[in-house]
Parts: sequence; structure tokens; C-alpha cells
Amino acid sequence: MERVNPKTVVWTRETGAVEKRDLWTAMKRGFRCRCPRCGEGKLFRAFLKVDNNCSVCGLDFTPHRADDLPAYLVIVIVGHIVVPLALSIETNFAPPVWLQLAIYLPLTLVLSLLLLQPVKGAVVGLQWALRMHGFDENPPDGVPPV
Ligand SMILES: [Zn+2]
Repeated sequence: MERVNPKTVVWTRETGAVEKRDLWTAMKRGFRCRCPRCGEGKLFRAFLKVDNNCSVCGLDFTPHRADDLPAYLVIVIVGHIVVPLALSIETNFAPPVWLQLAIYLPLTLVLSLLLLQPVKGAVVGLQWALRMHGFDENPPDGVPPV
């Protein structure tokens, strides 16, 4: 006797259609602290607090899991700016230590504070574009969001 699958799926052109998400566009919009989907609504409600949803398109931001990644990326970026600059100045001009500390410490602090919010926005944009965590509206069955 032949078994029949009780769950019949009718495939149409729209069955597999999902919202197309461009990674770089979403990351650029996030870097500008805007919604990764529409690019209009604000992403943050405070310095590093991501808003609950977009005020323009209503995208739910709560599934994001940026965690410590923006801080790590800012450390890498600022380190790649300040360290070569410090080595170059020390090699070519050898200024006194107090002058170097007076330049590099505030520079590191200011660059870190300036980059933290845009980098976090870019990380949220990346997670949305790649449908990570809860940003996938059609998750496969049996796989809990991480
Ligand atoms: Zn939006």
C-alpha cells in the first residue's frame, strides 16, 4: 500500500519569496544609526540603547544580539589608527613622553566614543541582513533562536 504525505505543499512563485536584504546597504544604514530596512527611522533611543522598533517602518529591533562585538571591532579599528600613528611620530620626531600621552590617550578615547555607536549600528544591520537570531520571520522548525 502506498503512503501519502498528509501535509501537501503547493509550490507557487510566492512560496519561497522572502524579503531581499542587501548586506552592505543594511550595514551602511546601521552605521548611520538608521533602520537597516528603511534607512529612515532611528536605530538608537540612547547612546548604545537600540530602540524597540523602527518609528517609520515598524521593524522589530529587539532580536538583535550585538553583545560585545561592537566594542571588539572598535578596539581593532582604533588600534589600527593610533598605534601606527604613534610609531610613526615616535620614529620620525621622538617627542617627549608627556606630549605623546597628552595626544594619544584623548585621541583613543574620542575615537572610541565616536565609533562605538555607528559600529554597533552596523552590527545590528549585519544581523538583520543575514537573518541572524530573531530577524528571520520564517525560521526552520525546531531550531530555537539563539
Ligand atoms: Zn525602518
